[in-house]
Amino acid sequence: MPPSDRKPRRFPLQLDQVASPRSGGARTPIGSTPAPRVSREILRPQAPLHLAERDRQRQATPQGLGLDSAQVRLRMVQRLQADGISHPGVLQAFATVPRHLFVDTALVNQAYEDTSLPIGLGQTISKPSVVAAMIQLLCVRPGLPRSDMPGAPTNTKPLGNCLEIGTGCGYQAALLGHLARRVVSIERLRDLHLKARGNLEQLRAVLPAWPDVRLVYGDGMIGHAPAAPFDTIIAAAGGSALPQAWLDQLAPGGRLVAPTEDERGGQVLVIVDRLPDGRFQQTRAGAVLFVPLKSGTT
Ligand code: SAH
Repeated sequence: MPPSDRKPRRFPLQLDQVASPRSGGARTPIGSTPAPRVSREILRPQAPLHLAERDRQRQATPQGLGLDSAQVRLRMVQRLQADGISHPGVLQAFATVPRHLFVDTALVNQAYEDTSLPIGLGQTISKPSVVAAMIQLLCVRPGLPRSDMPGAPTNTKPLGNCLEIGTGCGYQAALLGHLARRVVSIERLRDLHLKARGNLEQLRAVLPAWPDVRLVYGDGMIGHAPAAPFDTIIAAAGGSALPQAWLDQLAPGGRLVAPTEDERGGQVLVIVDRLPDGRFQQTRAGAVLFVPLKSGTT
């Protein structure tokens, strides 16, 4: 086809026909047909990098929980202090154990918030404030010689020989490990028991002085006679009554802290002290809501 027969070309537009955002309109070459106005709005599917960085810095908890996790943990410890946790050993344990290692990757952002989080199989990792309050109750038990005071021998730990019922993901067991001579922690769900094993293995890799924590797969309602008597017993699940085995396995001068059903069908936190003469003394420390204590294993 001879060039004169060609229709004037409209598309694609030549660069000089396109409106420049600053000039405010299309420039029309002299002697040619005016080009149609074209909208030049810029679409940005991704935010510019500097804005993304600014948004990241505004986040309450950092996204990359690596080297910066100590800072976030410190903020959690300060919140615990503001809530009345004052025992230096308890605060130190919370500052040391990386909670984010115990939750699923998708929940890592929430690891240092004061919230319980799902850990699989319908179970949850308990709220830091509740865990801290319960451990503090164990630490200040009346039968305790003041061995956690400055100048006391470092090999005597305030929780002594400690039994935990309901390992879950193993977070509380790791905290207890920093305060006890030995921790035995029992879980009735096999998959969670194995998960906790994996989590504590991971912890071993990052914490140089690894505490003595033994995980047992079994029914915690019968306690753990081979390692009894226990100076401290703590339960993370609540039943209709305290199992007799726990009371039997509590050493004189020892303390048990556990949720249990009250007369109105709710749950209360119960503290049982075994006095040096062997008698039991029970007190209540307020309403709580823990997962149910179930018998048998799965
Ligand atoms: N301390 C845990 C919280 C776990 S939730 C943590 O830090 O993640 C309570 C756990 O108690 C659940 O995993 C549940 O399976 C367990 N549990 C309930 N009844 C039990 C029993 N009879 N023996 C052992 N574990 C039990």
